[in-house]
Amino acid sequence: MLGETRYQYLVSYVVNDRIAVDAGCLGFGCPLATQKLVTDLFLSHCHLDHVATLPIFLDNVFEQGPECVIVHGSDETLSVLQQDILNDRLWPDFISLSTPDSAFLKLNELTALQPVPVGEMLVTPLPLIHVVPVFGFLIEDATSAVAIISDTHHSSGVWQHLARVPNLKAVLLECSFPDQLDWLADKALHLIPKSFAAEIQSLPASVRVIAIHIKPAWYEPVVDQLLALGLPNIEIGLTGVEYQF
Ligand SMILES: [Zn+2]
Ligand SMILES: [Zn+2]
Repeated sequence: MLGETRYQYLVSYVVNDRIAVDAGCLGFGCPLATQKLVTDLFLSHCHLDHVATLPIFLDNVFEQGPECVIVHGSDETLSVLQQDILNDRLWPDFISLSTPDSAFLKLNELTALQPVPVGEMLVTPLPLIHVVPVFGFLIEDATSAVAIISDTHHSSGVWQHLARVPNLKAVLLECSFPDQLDWLADKALHLIPKSFAAEIQSLPASVRVIAIHIKPAWYEPVVDQLLALGLPNIEIGLTGVEYQF
């Protein structure tokens, strides 16, 4: 999330100074020193609000030598990255320009529910329901687990999976549109406050639920409707803020 503004224009999260989830604003919105610490970037899906600054980020962190960032994504997301972004038209083909001794990036294809270890952490891709293939991510270490669930429509599988996760501290869950745009949410496969509340029904009240991916054009009604749900564990996501779990 970009800068200190309540509006959530673009999507990027940095976890424990090492993992990034999505590159919507990573290459513009994060200090360069933070960008350089990222070893593993997990892409939820190929939509522009999640990958817009990916080429800039790769440019920013490139160093000569064997170390480079690993970009994790589904087969479909990595194909879009290669064919539509790093295609020698929109941006140089960093994949072809990479050599074993000096790579811009390495690609790792994710498989649903197969965890990827990153240092002390484990990242598990969770299949969601959206207009293109998308993964949410469960990120765990020895004491805490946090799930980032965006972008999605109703997805019972993800809640069944999270019900079995020990130490689940927080879920960052998308809520893109207000209730009156239910028709659009059903077409674009996003959540509205009403369906957001239904999704989190099975979560224990001790789990923090942080609303993310609120479309700036509809920010005020979405926030009003989320708060009107009267659920004590719901928070509105803040941008440019460090969360501790
Ligand atoms: Zn999307
Ligand atoms: Zn999105």
